[in-house]
Amino acid sequence: MADNRSYASMKKLRNIRSAGTAALLTALLMTAGCMSSAVANKPPVSAGVDFFAMNTYMTITCYGPDAKAAADAGEAAVYELEKTESRMISTSEISRINANSGKGPVTVSQETFDIIADAVQYAEKTQGAFDITIAPVMDIWGFGDGNYKVPTDAQIQAALPLVNWKEIKLDAANLTVELPVAGMQLDLGGIGKGFASDKVQKIMKGCNVTAALINLGGNVAVFGPKTDGSLWKIGIADPNAPDPNAADAFLGVLTGTDISVITSGGYERFFVQGGKTYIHIMDPATGKPAESDLLSVSIVTPNGMQGDCLSTALFVMGKDKAMTYWRDHKDFSCILVTTSGEVFASQDLKDKFALVDTKTAYTLQFFS
Ligand code: ADP
Ligand code: MG
Repeated sequence: MADNRSYASMKKLRNIRSAGTAALLTALLMTAGCMSSAVANKPPVSAGVDFFAMNTYMTITCYGPDAKAAADAGEAAVYELEKTESRMISTSEISRINANSGKGPVTVSQETFDIIADAVQYAEKTQGAFDITIAPVMDIWGFGDGNYKVPTDAQIQAALPLVNWKEIKLDAANLTVELPVAGMQLDLGGIGKGFASDKVQKIMKGCNVTAALINLGGNVAVFGPKTDGSLWKIGIADPNAPDPNAADAFLGVLTGTDISVITSGGYERFFVQGGKTYIHIMDPATGKPAESDLLSVSIVTPNGMQGDCLSTALFVMGKDKAMTYWRDHKDFSCILVTTSGEVFASQDLKDKFALVDTKTAYTLQFFS
């Protein structure tokens, strides 16, 4: 079974490569190409890689005549993206934009420009529930450097004016991004893995891969039929399990292919202080962890980046607004798990999603 949770506790990491090796690999693949003419005559085989990137465990398993090269190319692409998009890497394009806030526009690559432009569109669509200018708020809660602490109200009030996606200035003709207010900072943590997953899929398809399972820390994408011709089964994490990331801790199973399944939940990253839990998904309106009546949101969609943005946004919105958002758009499917144990799945998942028999603490309803 594929699984859309963090891979940490499911499998011992076998194969961590350094970013340097990955970059070299990309260079080699770009010269050699993973689709040499010899490949066409090779029988299909399966191959997989497990690695750590973007602060999480990742795995790519694929099937095709040159599966190993494809998996390696996918892994290398993730490392490359991390190097450009992480605000924790001082030489990244995002760090250059952040270092220049209040000082003028910064020229970026087309890819970085596109990610930011798409993120801005999702901010607009979700009325700011998804907002990549959330970084100053992440930092005062210690989610930037892992030095967790509850900030003072004054710190929250100081950070909040810096969180406003409407201030991001994009110039498509000159490929520049500007954060006009000093102290504004971008954080692509809520979109990066979804974008990466779409990119890995494209690489796989370009490498003649016929079927793949791509799990980037809970952002799962599958395409093609499994080797026995059957559809993929993707476990949806049980957010109430002692360890929601454990291999058998899923509350339901989704069956399908050519989809991404992306879950956001408070259980993924949090800290406890004074008996209270503080999660890593922030409400940009309050500058505090989202006080959601949802424990998790899973988005099912062919577009991984959309799924990543919306899983975060719908979590922030809470159950009622999330359902309304689905009704207003219907260009994705979703599974909402509430704090009181109800599971609401959009009705287009009726034939695809079911609870696991043993999870009697949950009730499933399809909504329309
Ligand atoms: P995960 O990273 O666990 O898969 P998400 O996709 O929900 O979970 O992303 C959460 C990350 O997104 C946070 O760690 C932070 O970097 C960023 N983030 C937090 N709140 C928001 C928000 N309201 N809008 C956009 N990004 C956010
Ligand atoms: Mg997300």
